[in-house]
Formats: sequence, structure tokens, C-alpha cells
Amino acid sequence: MSNATQLLQSIPIDPLTGALAVPIYQTSTYVQEAPGVNKGYDYSRTNNPTRETLEKIAAQLENGSIGAAFASGLAAIDAVVKLLKTGDEIIAVDDIYGGAYRLFTQVYEQYGITVKFVDASDPENIFNAITEKTKLIWIETPTNPTLKIADIKAIANIAKAHRCLLCVDNTFASPALQKPLSLGADIVMHSATKYLGGHSDVIAGLVIIKDETLGARIKFFQNACGAVLAPFDSWLIIRGIETLYLRIKQHCINAQAVAEYLETHPAVDKVFYPGLKSHPNHDTAKKQQKGFGGVVSFSLKEDNLKLAEKFVSNTNIFKLAESLGGVKSLISHPANMTHKSIPAEKRRAAGVSDSLIRLSVGIEEVEDLINDLEKTF
Ligand SMILES: *Cc1c(COP(=O)(O)O)cnc(C)c1O
Repeated sequence: MSNATQLLQSIPIDPLTGALAVPIYQTSTYVQEAPGVNKGYDYSRTNNPTRETLEKIAAQLENGSIGAAFASGLAAIDAVVKLLKTGDEIIAVDDIYGGAYRLFTQVYEQYGITVKFVDASDPENIFNAITEKTKLIWIETPTNPTLKIADIKAIANIAKAHRCLLCVDNTFASPALQKPLSLGADIVMHSATKYLGGHSDVIAGLVIIKDETLGARIKFFQNACGAVLAPFDSWLIIRGIETLYLRIKQHCINAQAVAEYLETHPAVDKVFYPGLKSHPNHDTAKKQQKGFGGVVSFSLKEDNLKLAEKFVSNTNIFKLAESLGGVKSLISHPANMTHKSIPAEKRRAAGVSDSLIRLSVGIEEVEDLINDLEKTF
């Protein structure tokens, strides 16, 4: 059975009524037959049928055994970091999502958990950074906004040899393109706000784990700390996931065409897209991904803030907004938006130049998207 068929088949039909759509169990509590005797649900922070259905679908989609749904991607990251204790060390990808950077450095460093940032596009850098204190390797691939690729299998081997956990933030690729658990990762994390939800209408996070003991610890933190995903929001993510393969197919086709168009434009300096042969990690991306995703970044020959600012303010179809992964195309200017809090020199060193523009390429007709860019130059 193909992936898309399997996914749709995995969404259960309600045994009580035959409802084809997953019911929304908007309840906090459940009536018990006798004290402690219940149908598997006693309180919705601990377990809720709608959220449970999403967690099962997500676990299957990522080839894992346990899924846990959280109120945001950051709450999902937070649950993973809680596996660590004082004195432990994290090695994280250097162009990590800004919110994860803030959580690691401004929250967890207070508790004596330290973090080292390395360029994960060369696994050797991770190998060299490991000490006996390293308990968690945290990577994103592709990264934001320069779309660097890390070799998941190679890094999983390093993690195994040093008995530390590998967690992959799989938000950018989505499970339609990349399944890190099958490449040796221990944990997969998603900002389901992006491609899984797919419609820019909900904030949600997921953690998926292969090992059941480790999974039980994440489920424990989910209940003990309480940042659970609400029933209606769980339903929105299920509904989004139903069209995941179809949407991602179109995101990939559109992004490839946009990237190829940009590469030939005289005003463009560099184009960052793993689907281009000119991308330094194109071969690794090809090896571990079924497609190259919907995010494309580019810089202008005239590398100046004002010019990029003008560009992102003048497109029509591409709407100026943070976030990504929805059906509608978005445009952003990292230097002035997502990466504004990073000192300019540090930001530039990470490859985020003043004129870098990031596109979240949607599922509109690609000719219209290219025309929108063409008339903005
Ligand atoms: C958006 C995002 C997050 C954070 O998720 P929220 O749902 O916004 O909390 C984490 N990682 C990546 C790669 C993201 O794009």
C-alpha cells in the first residue's frame, strides 16, 4: 500500500457511531463506573480520545511506537529536554530554530544543562564536540533559513556509539519526505503548526519516539507538566494530516520551480534550496529525503537591508508573515524578523545576510508565484 493510502487507512472510523471524521471529545472528565473503574479515560490532561487518535496517527506516520501531542512545538521541545538533568550537555545544530535557542540558553542553562552549537552539515563537527557529559544531540534538517542538511544516519551512528540520544526536529521536511526514526534517530519532534496542520490555523507540537520506555517518560512529562494539545486543535491537525502527502507533493514542485527561476535571475546572489544541484548538501538530501520541501531562501546581489525590506513588502501573492508550511505562500526577511534579536555580525556569520529573503512556497499555481516575484524585482 502506498504511503498516502496507508495514512488515510490509519485514521479510525468511530466505533460508536460510524462517524467517518474523527469525533471531537470536548470534555474534561469521564464518568466512572466505580472509583478507578473507567473506559481508559479519567481526565483529559492525562488522556483524551481525540488527542489519542492524533498521537497514534502521528506515531504511525513517523514509524514510531509512541506519540505525544503538545500545545506548541516549543512545548514539545521542552518535554524532550526534560529527559536531561543538571550537568548534562546538549550538542545542537548552530542554525537552530530561534525559539529552541532561547529555551536551551535562557531557560535550561539556569538549571545547569549546557549546550554547544555546531555546524551539523559535517557529522565530524558533532563527533568532535561530544564529551562524556553529552546526553542529547539536537538537529534540524533542512535548517532555517539557509536550508543546510545534516546526514541523519551518520549522526545517529555517532549518537549510538556514545550512548546519547538523537532528536531530529522534522518540521521542515515533514514525515512525507523524511522519516528520521527509520534512519536511526531516537526521537522526532514537530512544530505541527507548520506542514502537519498545513493551513496556518493552529499552534501545535508533537514528539514521536520509537523506544517504549523512553516514550513512557515523554508521556509522563506531558501529563506531569500539562502542556497538552486541546481536542479541537488535535482535530485540526488530524484534518491537516489527511492531505499531507498531496500538499507536500505540490509544495515540492512549486518550490523547485521557484528556486530554479531565482537561480537564473540577474538580481539574485545565492539561492538556498536542497533540490538544486548547486546546493552543497544536495546529495545527502537526495539520499535521505523523498523530496526537497517547500522553503526556499535567496539573497540579493546588492546585499542591503532596505532593498530586501522593500522586496518583501511589495509582493502580492506572497504575504509578509512569519511561519511556514501553510497552503498560502509567505515571504519573510529574517534579518528584520525571526533573526532580529541575533547580533548582526553573528547573524551574518551564520549565513543570514542582510538581504536574505525566505519564501514558504504554497500550493498556488506556480506560474502565478513566479510572476509575483518577477514583477517585484
Ligand atoms: C515553528 C518551529 C518550531 C516551534 O514551534 P511552535 O509551534 O511555533 O511552538 C520549532 N522548530 C521549527 C523548525 C519551527 O519551524
